Amino acid sequence: MASVNGTGPQGTRRAFLSGAAGFVAAGMLPAPARAEGVARLGSREVLTISDGSFTVPLAMLARGVPPDTLMAALREAGQPIDQARMPLNITLIRDGDRYTVIDCGAGGHFLAGSGQFAASLDAAGIDRARVARVLFTHAHPDHLWGAIDEFDSALFPTARYGMAAAEIAFWMAEDVYARLPEDRHAFAAGAQRVLKTLGDRLERFAPGQEVAPGILAVETAGHTPGHVAFEVAGGGETLLVLGDALIHPVISCRYPDWRSVADIDPDLAVATRWRLLERLATDRVPVIAYHFPMPGLGRIERAGSAYRFVAA
Ligand SMILES: [Zn+2]
Repeated sequence: MASVNGTGPQGTRRAFLSGAAGFVAAGMLPAPARAEGVARLGSREVLTISDGSFTVPLAMLARGVPPDTLMAALREAGQPIDQARMPLNITLIRDGDRYTVIDCGAGGHFLAGSGQFAASLDAAGIDRARVARVLFTHAHPDHLWGAIDEFDSALFPTARYGMAAAEIAFWMAEDVYARLPEDRHAFAAGAQRVLKTLGDRLERFAPGQEVAPGILAVETAGHTPGHVAFEVAGGGETLLVLGDALIHPVISCRYPDWRSVADIDPDLAVATRWRLLERLATDRVPVIAYHFPMPGLGRIERAGSAYRFVAA
């Protein structure tokens, strides 16, 4: 039985080839669609699966930081200095023949290069009917919009969905448009459309709550008002799925004070980053970061007056 569902070396290769072939046929760049087993927590298997990637201007990562300073920091860390490439790493937790999915990718209406989650699942041979639960770190497009397909149907029709109550309240509020810059209004319209489509399959939770067996919601607000990370436990070990509490492997760790344009409450996001980085460096808990290089797994270490990400 191919119980690893395409996560072994052969499965990864099969998934990659199958995914790439589809994009070549569609005349697009062959972005690898992959599923990769990244950790075992007792009987639990943790995988990341790619939704593709998109690029953003460097200036989005650090509002108000002089371009020369930003480019020097990235160059020193061996990062590209023309633009920032943002992979999208969706986490799957396998318990027997059931899966929990954390975030759903961008779907077909966001930025070019993303929206490959459904294709990646198919390429990895993962049956959508086996996804019992879907959890969201927050409601930004690249995490939420992939939860429904091009026909506005839920990607996982038999799953239960969960998101922090504060996050749902923010995006569904009548004054959400007044609280966002105009170039973010499409984010609100999209969030409302998807959340309404999920309807009463969507459950609200609070940080600190065990939202599924062995999965704890961890308060990490700032990037969005109700952003959470998820602490996944099994076999006496834990792993933290970060979502966008850290969004760039260099900027977020070495320069936690630099404010991303994507953070809705930048001051709170900075405070959350420092607190989270210190905890991760102390506890040495492995993390999966949504936008770090695939598969997003690694650890945080202290480095000088800040921190660094060490990929696993
Ligand atoms: Zn994101």
